[in-house]
Amino acid sequence: KSVGCSNSYQFYEEELKIRFSEEMMIDNGIQEALSNHQFTLHYQPKVDTVTGAISGIEALVRWEHPELGRISPDKFIPLAERSGIIYKIDEWVLKEACRQNKAWQDEGLPKVPVAVNISALHFSQTNLLDMIHGALEESGLEESYLTLEITEGVFIENVELVIGIISRIRERGIHISIDDFGTGYSSLNQLQRLPISHVKLDRSFIRDIGGEPKKAAVAKAIIELAHSMNMTVVAEGVETAEESEYFTRCRCDELQGYYFSRPLPAPEFSRLLQRGNYA
Ligand code: C2E
Ligand code: CA
Ligand code: CA
Ligand code: CA
Repeated sequence: KSVGCSNSYQFYEEELKIRFSEEMMIDNGIQEALSNHQFTLHYQPKVDTVTGAISGIEALVRWEHPELGRISPDKFIPLAERSGIIYKIDEWVLKEACRQNKAWQDEGLPKVPVAVNISALHFSQTNLLDMIHGALEESGLEESYLTLEITEGVFIENVELVIGIISRIRERGIHISIDDFGTGYSSLNQLQRLPISHVKLDRSFIRDIGGEPKKAAVAKAIIELAHSMNMTVVAEGVETAEESEYFTRCRCDELQGYYFSRPLPAPEFSRLLQRGNYA
């Protein structure tokens, strides 16, 4: 028995070593990727349910590794959060998204806010405000054309501090959206204390509403409650006509998902923006 035990211990140790070195590789890789321009942004539209117009854009980071190929953000973002290099990634994303949105505006394309994902970690350090200020200053983008998507995880600790930071961001006219809503820690009750303007209903609420009437009812109730608190609601991960119709009927304000468009590289997205309407 003791042999089996030490074997499995050894195995575990080996596995840890491999995991550790893979993480080191990705971590060092991220440094390199930042300096060698291996990151790009893809853009996905948010569509207004009333007018059918593109009403917003989400910027999503993509990493094309020279040897490993494309690495999904679901894989490298958590590692980057653990090592702290996420600060540099998010800063690059923020600057690039602001620059690109301003460039589209200058070309005469419709003016809509661009949303960037901001890791919860940024809220434990106060220079988030400097980072945002820097990106807006450098690009010349107006405050009202920037949205920050943050997850409910932001509100686990130091709620008062976080509310303070968010209030200052909002005072400047920048939008804040709660991402993946319904999967995390905050309740609708807590939501009413937060100075935010948009809620993004998590994909898990959208999936299979046809087969799960209870899920559909919960989604509808969240939309109504958010509206009663003067927040607008975005449904994310909309893949079918049925889902699109259901959430339009429920008076969801905006829809986002493969049904309208996959996230696209900038040149393709700008053609979509030019056409401008799904109605
Ligand atoms: P998220 O913020 O919830 O982004 C939505 C994800 O859903 C994106 O995955 C998007 O490509 C995908 N998606 C959009 N429409 C559909 C659909 O109809 N069906 C399905 N199944 N999926 C859809 P992606 O681009 O792989 O990003 C994954 C996550 O990585 C994001 O989730 C976000 O949490 C994180 N992430 C992406 N870019 C950044 C970034 O620049 N900074 C930070 N901190 N996190 C990022
Ligand atoms: Ca997001
Ligand atoms: Ca989301
Ligand atoms: Ca997510």
